[in-house]
Amino acid sequence: MSIFRTESDYPMIAFEEAKRILAERILPLAPRPASLGTILAGTVLAESLTAEEQVPPFDASTMDGYAVIAADGLVKRRVLAEQNAGPIANVTLSSGECVRIMTGAALPAGADAVIPVEWTREEQGWMATEMAAQIGLNVRSRGSDVARGQTVLSGGTVLGPAEIGLLAALGIYQPLVYPTPRVAILATGDELASQDAVPAPGQIRDSNSYVLAAAVRAIGCTVTTVRQIPDSASQLSSAIGSAAAEADLVLTTGGVSMGTRDLIKPVLENLGTVHFGRVAVKPGLPLTFATVLGVPVLGLPGNPVSTLVGFEVVVRPVLRALASQPARWRPERQVRLDHAIRHEPARLEFQRAQVFARDGAWWARTTGSQASSRLLSLVGANALLLIPRGTGDLDAGTTVTAMMIEEPEIEQPS
Ligand code: AMP
Ligand code: MG
Repeated sequence: MSIFRTESDYPMIAFEEAKRILAERILPLAPRPASLGTILAGTVLAESLTAEEQVPPFDASTMDGYAVIAADGLVKRRVLAEQNAGPIANVTLSSGECVRIMTGAALPAGADAVIPVEWTREEQGWMATEMAAQIGLNVRSRGSDVARGQTVLSGGTVLGPAEIGLLAALGIYQPLVYPTPRVAILATGDELASQDAVPAPGQIRDSNSYVLAAAVRAIGCTVTTVRQIPDSASQLSSAIGSAAAEADLVLTTGGVSMGTRDLIKPVLENLGTVHFGRVAVKPGLPLTFATVLGVPVLGLPGNPVSTLVGFEVVVRPVLRALASQPARWRPERQVRLDHAIRHEPARLEFQRAQVFARDGAWWARTTGSQASSRLLSLVGANALLLIPRGTGDLDAGTTVTAMMIEEPEIEQPS
C-alpha cells in the first residue's frame, strides 16, 4: 500500500540558496575540439589561440588599379601584365613599369604602391596618371591585420560569427571549446496520453515535452531524447539511468510533489543524491535537484507554467553554466506596474508579464490569471516579474524588477 504523507522530507530553501547549491555542483563540461563549421554562435572557447599564420598572407592591393614603383613619380609607365586575385603572375617591375592589379591580388615583385584605376588612363600599353603615389599607398602589407604569433582570442571568449570567421581566416579549424550541452527530457505521469492518440478519459495531452524541447533548442542546446514515462518506480529508474548515461543534463516533469504516485524524489535518492527538493518560489515549489552518476537531474513540477518558468529561472542558467557561459542570467530592468497585483509574502513569485514602453518609461502588465496550470499566462509574456518574499500585494505604479525573457523587437528602426 502506498503511504499518503503529509509533510515533505525536504526543507524549504530560499531561491538564493538553491542558486548557491547549483553554482557549487554544476561544473562546466570538459572542453573538446569541435569542427569549426559546426560550432554554433554562443559557444565558449576553451583555449587561448595564437595565430600561426599571418593575415593577409602577402602584400595585397586594396584597390583595382595599377601596381607601381612610387619613386617613379608622374612618368608614363609601360603596362607589363595583369595581376588578378589568385595565382601570382611571374613578373618583376623595374623603373618605368607597372602592372594592372585587382583588389585582393598580390603586389608584384618590385612594386610598392597602387594607383586606383579612377586616377589613370591606359592607352596602347602605357598608363598615365596625375597621382604621385607614396610607398605603401593602397597596399595591405602582409601580417598587418593579424601578425604571426599574436594572441587572437583568449580562453572564455564567446564565439559569434565574427570570431568564427577570424578562426577560419587563420586556418584554425578544430578549436577547443566547451561542448553544447545535451539534454534528455522525460515527461512523467500516468495521465499522459501518447502523442499520436486521442486522450482516453482521465488522460491529458503532454505539453511539457514540447515546451522543454523547444526551450532547450532555442538556447542552442541539443535534445537527446524526449520520452513519456508512467508513474512507476522501476520504469522511472531505468529511464533516468539511461538518460544520465547519454546526456549532460536530465530534465523530468511531474511527480515531484506530495502525491502517493509522486516518485521522482525517492527514485533519485536511490540512483544518486538529491541536493534539494523544495524551493520557496511560485510557481514551482517542489523543484528538485539531484546528481546521478555525476550528471545533474532537474525535476520540474508537472504544471505547464511551473515547467516553463522553472526552465527560465533554473534550467537555462544551469545549461549556461555547463556550457561555461560567463553570463548566466537574463537582463533585468526596473518597470512600473500598470495595475495592482496580488502576492503572498511567503515566496518569491515569478509573475508572467508583458513589458512595454510608455511615455519614456517601462511598464509591465501581467498576462491575466497566474494559475500555474495556465499555459496561456506565458503566451505573449516577454518578462517575468520578480516579486520578492516578504512583500504583500502591490499597488499600481509600484516599481518592480523584470527579468527580460525577450527584448521587445521593433519593426523598423527610425
Ligand atoms: P504533478 O507535478 O505530477 O503533480 O502534476 C501537476 C499537474 O501537471 C497535473 O495536473 C498534471 O496532470 C499536469 N501535468 C503533468 N505532466 C504534464 C505534461 N507533460 N504536460 C501537461 N501537463 C502535465
Ligand atoms: Mg503526477
